[in-house]
Amino acid sequence: MTQPTTAAAPRPLEGIAPALFLPMGVDGVYARSALYVRVREALEDYITRLREPGVELLRFPPVMSRRQLEKSGYLKSFPNLLGCVCALHGSEASIRAAADRHEAGGDWTAALAASDLVLSPAACYPVYPIVAERGALPAGGLQFDIEADVFRREPSLSLDRLQSFRMREFVRIGSPDEIVEFRERWMARAPRIAEELGLPHTLDVANDPFFGRVGQIMAVSQRQQALKFELLVPYFAGASPTACMSFNYHREHFGVTWGIRDARGEPAHTSCVAFGIDRLTVALFAVHGIELDRWPDPTRRALGL
Ligand code: AMP
Ligand code: ZN
Repeated sequence: MTQPTTAAAPRPLEGIAPALFLPMGVDGVYARSALYVRVREALEDYITRLREPGVELLRFPPVMSRRQLEKSGYLKSFPNLLGCVCALHGSEASIRAAADRHEAGGDWTAALAASDLVLSPAACYPVYPIVAERGALPAGGLQFDIEADVFRREPSLSLDRLQSFRMREFVRIGSPDEIVEFRERWMARAPRIAEELGLPHTLDVANDPFFGRVGQIMAVSQRQQALKFELLVPYFAGASPTACMSFNYHREHFGVTWGIRDARGEPAHTSCVAFGIDRLTVALFAVHGIELDRWPDPTRRALGL
């Protein structure tokens, strides 16, 4: 039997890990401590204060429709990261037989079959079909404040690479001009946010980790079109920086997929600004330490701590 691992960390982070994360027996899946949750909640409230007027709030569960995610094209891009909810289907007798195989020391999982749910791999996928149901976009488009605990199958011992983590997003749906303006506004704001939180940072063009050889071509194209930027924070001096926020321009992908039209009847363009809530929370502890009363005053003031 494998022993549950602790939230292992490179040496400079070793000291803080036990105060934040409690092992749950699987790499990248941790219980959060009271100290951690206090800062995470303060960070979430801080982000709420950044919300622009007229933004609609939605909170999603950690699961979503498998069909909707399939239709969004996720399997083309990141099939390796997806977690699907499987369950024991069938008669009472067949479910009992599968469960009893476990009791007898056998493998019950062979009887599992896919359900109509997947674990959401990013917060914003469910918002587009919801908007499509409402018909044409109003003039000026729409903006949402959304959040979900998401799953990505990338087990790791690093504190900044979790399998289950919280993602908060501001999502804009509208005309190309509205979308470009939205993303630029947030990319200008992000360094000021990092400064207020006392986090060292850089903003850089990025690409998603598309799967396989075809994925490499997709990544190059994404970079060439500058469709993704990230706010990068080094957790300690000399660390390779961690992407804590991302600024994504999906062009007309979701507008075409879901038949969302802007006020002029053209396929809507979309963009999302994603806050990696766990990565930002860990960054705050990594940079400022685990004693909140020793954090810099401006950071404490910004977070209301
Ligand atoms: P992405 O859709 O990959 O741009 O992810 C959005 C944000 O979620 C990123 O900017 C990160 O801050 C955060 N994130 C992505 N992957 C992970 C992970 N494995 N563990 C923790 N946070 C993550
Ligand atoms: Zn998104």
